[in-house]
Amino acid sequence: MGGTFDPIHNGHLVAASEVADAFALDEVIFVPTGEPWHKNPVMSAEHRYLMTVIATAANPRFTVSRVEIDRPGTTYTVDTLTQIAKDHPGADLFFISGADAIAQILAWKDLDKLWPLATFIGVTRPGHKLQLPEVPEASMSILEVPALAISSSDVRDRISDGKPVWYLVPDGVVQYIGKHKLYRGEN
Ligand code: ATP
Ligand code: MG
Repeated sequence: MGGTFDPIHNGHLVAASEVADAFALDEVIFVPTGEPWHKNPVMSAEHRYLMTVIATAANPRFTVSRVEIDRPGTTYTVDTLTQIAKDHPGADLFFISGADAIAQILAWKDLDKLWPLATFIGVTRPGHKLQLPEVPEASMSILEVPALAISSSDVRDRISDGKPVWYLVPDGVVQYIGKHKLYRGEN
């Protein structure tokens, strides 16, 4: 599951848990983006990585990968999936992503190399209508997850407005954000 995770919130975690259950996955690897070409993260990769580790630490099936963070320059999904396939020989890979990202899929790099690498799972959330692109050579599925109208941008806005984010993001992440004074508009 790729994302900026700026910060990770309970919507991400519910989506991951639902997909893991529906597709009987052994493991969900969270892959925080390094420098996404389509959006600029507010926080450094290290802060986003550590918050993702804190949020997923208690779940034995959740892990976090540094593959995109440690690769210099722009990162592409095709390169990430190729690397993960190399690291997990013989594994059946699923790429989990939100409705918004799946809808943009046709703008991605090396599409013909991308499709054979994984099954693409688009999760829906309120306010995002999911329209899967029609790609005959691709394996894609939609999964509706329980309505969690949470987004990282809302979480960031709430923090800069001095509003609470308890129960929207995991407790440890709320504490990490407070400890490092993140998203207050100063850093
Ligand atoms: P932002 O508000 O900055 O766009 P985000 O909440 O969408 O952040 P991302 O890190 O961009 O977070 O999300 C990673 C993936 O998780 C995206 O594909 C996104 O669509 C999906 N996602 C985010 N929030 C939810 C949610 N509440 N329910 C289901 N999927 C979600
Ligand atoms: Mg988003």
